Amino acid sequence: MESEKITEFKTPPNFIKNIINEDLRTNKYGGRVHTRFPPEPNGYLHIGHAKSICLNFGIAQEYGGKCNLRFDDSNPTKEKTEYVDSIIEDVRWLGFDWEDRLYYASDYFDKLYEFAVQLIKKGKAYVCDLSPDEIRRYRGTLTEPGIDSPYRNRSIEENLELFEQMKQGKFPEGSRTLRAKIDMASPNLNMRDPVIYRILYAYHHRTGNKWCIYPMYDFTHCISDSLEGITHSLCTLEFEDHRPLYDWFLIELGLYRPQQIEFARLNLNYTVMSKRKLLKLVEEKFVDGWDDPRMPTISGLRRRGYTPRSIRNFAERIGVAKSDNVVDISLLEYCIREDLNKIAHRAMVVLNPLKVVIENYPEGQIEEIDAVNNPEDPSYGTRKVPFSREVYIEREDFMEDPPKNFYRLAPGREVRLRYAYLIKCKEVIKDDDGNIIELRCTYDPLTKGGSAPDGRKVKGIIHWVSVKHCYDAELRLYDHLFNKENPEEEQDFTMAINPNSLKILNAKIEPFLINAKPGEKFQFERIGYFCVDTKYSSPGKPIFNRTVTLKDTWAKIKDKL
Ligand code: ATP
Ligand code: MG
Repeated sequence: MESEKITEFKTPPNFIKNIINEDLRTNKYGGRVHTRFPPEPNGYLHIGHAKSICLNFGIAQEYGGKCNLRFDDSNPTKEKTEYVDSIIEDVRWLGFDWEDRLYYASDYFDKLYEFAVQLIKKGKAYVCDLSPDEIRRYRGTLTEPGIDSPYRNRSIEENLELFEQMKQGKFPEGSRTLRAKIDMASPNLNMRDPVIYRILYAYHHRTGNKWCIYPMYDFTHCISDSLEGITHSLCTLEFEDHRPLYDWFLIELGLYRPQQIEFARLNLNYTVMSKRKLLKLVEEKFVDGWDDPRMPTISGLRRRGYTPRSIRNFAERIGVAKSDNVVDISLLEYCIREDLNKIAHRAMVVLNPLKVVIENYPEGQIEEIDAVNNPEDPSYGTRKVPFSREVYIEREDFMEDPPKNFYRLAPGREVRLRYAYLIKCKEVIKDDDGNIIELRCTYDPLTKGGSAPDGRKVKGIIHWVSVKHCYDAELRLYDHLFNKENPEEEQDFTMAINPNSLKILNAKIEPFLINAKPGEKFQFERIGYFCVDTKYSSPGKPIFNRTVTLKDTWAKIKDKL
């Protein structure tokens, strides 16, 4: 798999950097900048995570600081090693490096237990026998204060004993919790005696069956940040209301306190971005796995043909703000086009073939035509494309009765076959039903690879492949997975799935493409950027995923396909 280590990534100026600059000026953290990317291994990473990855690793790099990769794995029922592995692969593929700082919150389970005991000893936590349902009811609402649990005033000794017994597996799942003793009347619901430990008889992908009690996310997350000496704990806006709780835990426990800074999460139109919803798409087989090229996952984008650089550039362009917004998916597409334009090898492929017989071209003759591999970069060189008496052109490049502004092939008209000759259409052959099945043309031998000696002008240039030399290959053309700008608005977001998001067709490809390797990227001239599928291609049988269209040209022929 391609993986490039980047040495420099510039995050755009943003409010987070202003805060860090100020902290450096006042020497708040002794000049240190230490961030982390803290995924929960309960799914694959998506483009929203890429924003957070670029931000956290980018800021660390820019300030000569450090960034940890830490798995927040305190919820064993939803987490899997498969997810851990995919996350590691994806962050690395994006070009970032955590050096030797790969951590797991589960590595802190012993410490977290001790911290919980410490809270009990301070009279700041208690074992509660309310059921999850009752806890919810006692909690109150935004407008009404909560009600104290009847177990709130247990003695420290009783709490210590019960918590120990919880750990020993003496109680059934869900029968008891450990709760922080804060304030049931707090206007912030997170402060109303939140649960910090629950009983869960679940196998954990790292700690196995060692534990039957697991710490809650809020307790785990802020202490993990603290233990790792994180200076700036960057998270999305929904955690703003959790900050007072994090501060409470760390102050009560006398622990080092990082600065939490919230930023707006990335939303993209025509996309859903929650792991829960992406999981549903996978489990209910709306898509072909987490790495389906239509998924907004990093692995899906990679399979689709996105490059790490294009994703980093996207993250750079969208910037970081404090208020929620929706980014247009066409910006992401712009970023990959921009990158592929520079690096993609060109090729000729005909999607919807129409046979052209060049009557005055000698039978059996074959020529090697020079074609440019990448007009943006001469170092890509040229290649030989076989030319013969019969070629396929795009059906859409011919019109029997063309309007004025149609500059491609039509009866009596002349057009250039890309890199080869000018041809003129003499006759249209139809089947019994009146469908066009072949064109009869002539070519001008004096126009090979250049203009006509008599200086006559031809506007249209069309792509082609030699009938005798081309191969068949499967092309997969993608459209947005959803046909609503905001699928989340639907009662059931799967109702907004676009039934035409994948179109499979058989195309005629230029000969060299038959040996294209999985992951290789091409521009099929006038058609779009394509990437050889890494999942289903086999030697001599490449399948091409269309990464993105070539904007303008595509719009003209798209409707007909
Ligand atoms: P999801 O809501 O998709 O399930 P999550 O927040 O539960 O995502 P985590 O694994 O907890 O997923 O996320 C890891 C980090 O990535 C967190 O710091 C989180 O704030 C950040 N993150 C998640 N989604 C986005 C997003 N759409 N834009 C920016 N950052 C995000
Ligand atoms: Mg989360």
